[in-house]
Amino acid sequence: MDIKFIKRDVLKEKPQTIKLGVGKYFTDYMFLMDFDSQNGWNNARIVPYEDFSISPASAVLHYAQETFEGLKAYRTPEGEIQLFRPAMNARRFINSNKRMCLPIVPEDVFLEAVRKLVYLEKDWIPFIPNTTLYIRPFVFATDNTLGVHVSKTYRFCIILSPSGNYFPTGMKPISIYVEEELVRAVIGGTGFAKCGGNYAASLLGQSKAATQGYDQVLWLDGVEHKYIEEVGAMNIMFVINDEVVTPMLNGSILPGITRDSCITLLKNKNIKVSERRISIEEIMSAGRDGTLKEMFGTGTAAVILPVGKISYKGEEITINNQQIGPVAQDLFDELTGIQFGRKSDDNNWIISLNSNDKL
Ligand SMILES: *Cc1c(COP(=O)(O)O)cnc(C)c1O
Repeated sequence: MDIKFIKRDVLKEKPQTIKLGVGKYFTDYMFLMDFDSQNGWNNARIVPYEDFSISPASAVLHYAQETFEGLKAYRTPEGEIQLFRPAMNARRFINSNKRMCLPIVPEDVFLEAVRKLVYLEKDWIPFIPNTTLYIRPFVFATDNTLGVHVSKTYRFCIILSPSGNYFPTGMKPISIYVEEELVRAVIGGTGFAKCGGNYAASLLGQSKAATQGYDQVLWLDGVEHKYIEEVGAMNIMFVINDEVVTPMLNGSILPGITRDSCITLLKNKNIKVSERRISIEEIMSAGRDGTLKEMFGTGTAAVILPVGKISYKGEEITINNQQIGPVAQDLFDELTGIQFGRKSDDNNWIISLNSNDKL
């Protein structure tokens, strides 16, 4: 792919790595590419990070034809720059875009754009252990008309944000509120697609949970309000007796790459994993009789997020004394070990960047 480069006159000052937060700072450059029905994707370019100018009638602002991805670049102790399973993000982006009638970004184009931009911006990957460069690719409709139709023009963009350790004061189990009325997605809807609309629909549930004093919301299925789907922006796993159970991918759950990686790592260790329907009653009952050993979320941002407390219909259950359990801890150590190049990558998940990725 031919990528045009527009250089900035002055580079930004890089933030203090201690106070990074997540998604607060953005690097010097972004990748852009435009789509129209005549030319397809065109005008691939890396340009200074700056505001967009779009029409108030831009389709995305009214009808939310938009999808995104989220992955990270890691710095190893030897100073190598690496990505974790980026082809899975590229493929999921294609699936999301098909659902939302967005033009797909071919896998090789997605990967090349990510590699070139990250390599150019590699000095922005913070040096403090367990900090990363978060990569946010997204695509949105840009037709300027209020008519409801599939847009004819689009923009694909990738921005980068140096991000701090998700657990600056150590990994601490969170509390979860089970939402009984509102739903995030239904089968046949857009639950499996990583689209902004799903997030807009989930905000009310999240703020309800927060009002009641809980960190995150757990969503049940949209039809019976009975089966567990996922938590906030994470997939969810339970350890019941010696088995790990997680909701199967049914079309309304986001197919997480962390989820998939955890399942592989567990199976490699001969730990039994079941992907199946799990009712909230089953979890509450396992919590009462002590067979529920652990509960944790999985996602790129936190990697593994242990859950210490769950509330459903006014009943609160404490899990593993609100401590991190051994399965969660082991998955966290394994995954972050591979991602940061401290452990061997037996599953060929790592893509290292090198001078071939220079613009
Ligand atoms: C992105 C996301 C996840 C986690 O996916 P990963 O690929 O593991 O980061 C889970 N649920 C939702 C709703 C998401 O948007």
